[in-house]
Amino acid sequence: MDAIAAAQVLSEIGYLLRQDPEEKFRAKAFSAAAWSLAVERPDLAVLHARNGLTSLEGVGAGIAKVLAEAIETGGSRYLDRLREQVNQPARDDESAIDLTRYQGDVHAHSNWSDGRATMLEMARGAEAMGYHYLGVTDHSPRIKVVNGLNADRLLAQSREMAEVQAQVPHVALLQGIEVDILEDGTLDLPDMVLELLDVVIASPHVKLRQEPAAMTERMLRAVSHPHVDVIGHPTGRRPGSREGASYDFEAVFKEAARHHVALEIDCDPARMDLSPEMARLALDCGCNFTLDADAHAPAELAYVPMGLWMARRAGIPQGRILNFLSLGELTDALH
Ligand SMILES: [Zn+2]
Ligand SMILES: [Zn+2]
Repeated sequence: MDAIAAAQVLSEIGYLLRQDPEEKFRAKAFSAAAWSLAVERPDLAVLHARNGLTSLEGVGAGIAKVLAEAIETGGSRYLDRLREQVNQPARDDESAIDLTRYQGDVHAHSNWSDGRATMLEMARGAEAMGYHYLGVTDHSPRIKVVNGLNADRLLAQSREMAEVQAQVPHVALLQGIEVDILEDGTLDLPDMVLELLDVVIASPHVKLRQEPAAMTERMLRAVSHPHVDVIGHPTGRRPGSREGASYDFEAVFKEAARHHVALEIDCDPARMDLSPEMARLALDCGCNFTLDADAHAPAELAYVPMGLWMARRAGIPQGRILNFLSLGELTDALH
């Protein structure tokens, strides 16, 4: 088992453990170890043969045991047990997805809003991952704490982007925005601004506890907006700490499919939104997807390889995930 496959085993264990509040710390430890494997990509067989698994960052004796079993058998009894406990057993219709065909991430932040790295550092991170494109999608102005971008700052950002693009020629930088879906379903930037951007991700961030009928109207309005390409982390949930928004998912997903608006599987272990179960519903509703890290630092781009299992578990064919499109195909798909 290679490091990416092992990262997915640990990541799923971290995810399942999050459903039990008492296991919060263990959950985080598994997710952190998964992340470290996805970033470092060590040769696990060699390390295991040398009894060196605990030399990996974030891997203590307990996690090393799970890893050793995964390396030796390709499976994990601990994972199987957790799946049974939360009633999410393995399915025989998981999809096969070839991560080496993943072309680029369309949801990333820089220090233009709440990211912790410059656009150049993020672009270099994407280059190191072998990506052909990166969507730079900082926040819109509504959430003041994250220093969101208005039209003037987006214009200034586009100038910096041109400079960064010249330094990182092999990764096409897409200028985008993660625009807030306001309470009434309108967006936090005017159409004439959104129209100019390469990629528009509309996300619910605040007032997630709106009552379901109002939330449904809000989301229906967002997916019908002519400039929206993707709905970011569609429920806003935080596994283990915050339930996501509740709305008529089927109605919203069907409307998203009708408008060719993709739904995101946000691979940040703190989000994992859509969940595999919800993504399966969206698949049945005819939706396309993006599989993104929502990275706020270059190392977080590795959330995608560790979160890939969610898309497989949801049974989503590779062809329904926009990140597997070539740059040209992606540009055509984004309206
Ligand atoms: Zn967001
Ligand atoms: Zn984001």
